Amino acid sequence: MIRWTDLLIPTLREAPGDAEIVSHKLLLRAGLIRKLSGGVYTFLPMGLRALRKVENIIREEMNRAGGIEILMPALQPAEIWQQSGRYTLASEVLFHVHDRTKREWVLGPTHEEVITTLAANEINSYRQLPKNFYQIQVKFRDEIRPRFGLMRAKEFVMKDAYSFDVSDEAAQESYRKMYDAYTRIFKRCGLKAFPVEADTGVIGGKFSHEFMVPAETGENEVAYCEGGGYAANTEKATSRGPAKPTPTESTGSAPEKFATPGVVTIEALQRQPYGVGAHRQIKTLVYLAESKLIIVLMRGDDQLNEAKFAGKIGTNQFRPATPEEIFAALGAHPGSLGAVGVTGITVYADETLRGAKGMATGANEDGFHLRHVEIDRDITVTSWFDLRTVKAGEICETTGEPLKIQRAIEVGHVFKLGTKYSESMGSSFLDADGVRKPTVMGCYGIGVTRTMQAAIEQFNDVNGIIWPASIAPFHVHLMPINVAHAESVTVATELGAKLEAAGIEVLYDDRDERPGVKFKDSDLIGLPLRVSVGERSLAKGEVEIKVRSTGHVIMSPVATAADQICELLKGLTASP
Ligand code: ATP
Ligand code: MG
Repeated sequence: MIRWTDLLIPTLREAPGDAEIVSHKLLLRAGLIRKLSGGVYTFLPMGLRALRKVENIIREEMNRAGGIEILMPALQPAEIWQQSGRYTLASEVLFHVHDRTKREWVLGPTHEEVITTLAANEINSYRQLPKNFYQIQVKFRDEIRPRFGLMRAKEFVMKDAYSFDVSDEAAQESYRKMYDAYTRIFKRCGLKAFPVEADTGVIGGKFSHEFMVPAETGENEVAYCEGGGYAANTEKATSRGPAKPTPTESTGSAPEKFATPGVVTIEALQRQPYGVGAHRQIKTLVYLAESKLIIVLMRGDDQLNEAKFAGKIGTNQFRPATPEEIFAALGAHPGSLGAVGVTGITVYADETLRGAKGMATGANEDGFHLRHVEIDRDITVTSWFDLRTVKAGEICETTGEPLKIQRAIEVGHVFKLGTKYSESMGSSFLDADGVRKPTVMGCYGIGVTRTMQAAIEQFNDVNGIIWPASIAPFHVHLMPINVAHAESVTVATELGAKLEAAGIEVLYDDRDERPGVKFKDSDLIGLPLRVSVGERSLAKGEVEIKVRSTGHVIMSPVATAADQICELLKGLTASP
């Protein structure tokens, strides 16, 4: 039995001002973590216990799925990042360090480079495959916007796994095993998480799913169908297109310039005296990628999806061009831009604009637009792509149902990588036929610290955390209501000993505090059961059990209280 006063559980009435979302506030208020610096946290005893619970569930399920646990270094020579080609691709998040000889290292944000180097050296024959190596380890990422506590941190714990197979088919099987393991892991953590199709981004790879926890404060958006037939990150999601079709009827006229003084937005051109509907406008965006300009054409009522765009150009190293760069290239400023007659610059157009006629767009002359524009006739499009973000209500291509949009927290990610890293890092094997082939890889991440916080984000009320029993720091918060009342203390400690003998983890609140304070803290720290022993109930031979999740209060005879607590906990523990 662990005593409250032997730990450090610094509960707070109020959360510090920089905590924006409820789970971040509760992590601090319940004394689970403390901030050292933005995005960098110390885990206090209660936080560490919950974290270990999540880790252990992950470890058990990874082992069950055939994973082999290893531990790789966080400190990695910069050369291996150059070798994989990710030194520049991932440069935004890489922490760089130099040793005494001025040699450059990076702090690992992920471990494809290290594991593939290992596999290149140690795996040589088809007889050694398949293999799935995993670790639970600290990652470092120089996030642009660390925030929301453990959700987006600079230093965080990840479970990362990497599978090596002899063929695509075998890799598919490894992927499926991880997908199933993830489903079990989140279920055992008590979380409502669901898989969605995900963008493979610039890490490459062919196929990927993210596991999402629905939450208004999530940084992702998921498009899904009510019937469950489709769910995808909006970075990837497609639909049959916008509700309003794109006009494709010719006006029979050539592009005609008209004066639009001061009009620099889609909305302004929609208003009188112009009255051009947003779906009749071509929006012209200009980006700079690898020091080359790219014009992107979207329908006026659509948003460019930057993840899709990054996927098409093969890099996330791009930015909007500055007004000066744009003026130098097109002779006009943002708000009056268009691609009619433009040559020598790459022009990407969104699929929604195919066949568009009778459109309006900027004239590349400040204060003027063009109408009667027909995209096929008037604009030289280099490539057509799906670049738009889907909207709620659009029709799903897969199911034919309307799409819904929901915000969510990404807690895990499974990726089919193929041979991208094995080829660049030299991981290959001799097949049964004596032919040397690259290993086929997959990679699989779970944000362990983020998962722990996501559970708090999903399960709380105005009074505090409501831990799922499987990851709660302790199962029972046991307290004598008055520590000066000898009988209460005796009964409570005896009950605690019995519970411990039954394998239940008990936090014994030995504080000499008013009952109100202890009860408030009890709700705040959110252990599944609160058991209080006081003079009044003891007079009737009973102790009080309160179920945190339901608020249900049960008066239980002292003699059978331990059994009843065991039963209650069994009912509270999720098992897939
Ligand atoms: P995000 O889009 O949220 O930045 P990511 O795609 O960069 O995530 P991965 O590289 O797939 O994430 O990492 C695997 C898991 O690690 C993610 O699913 C997430 O749960 C967790 N994770 C990633 N970045 C962070 C971070 N800065 N802080 C905490 N957890 C993180
Ligand atoms: Mg990231």
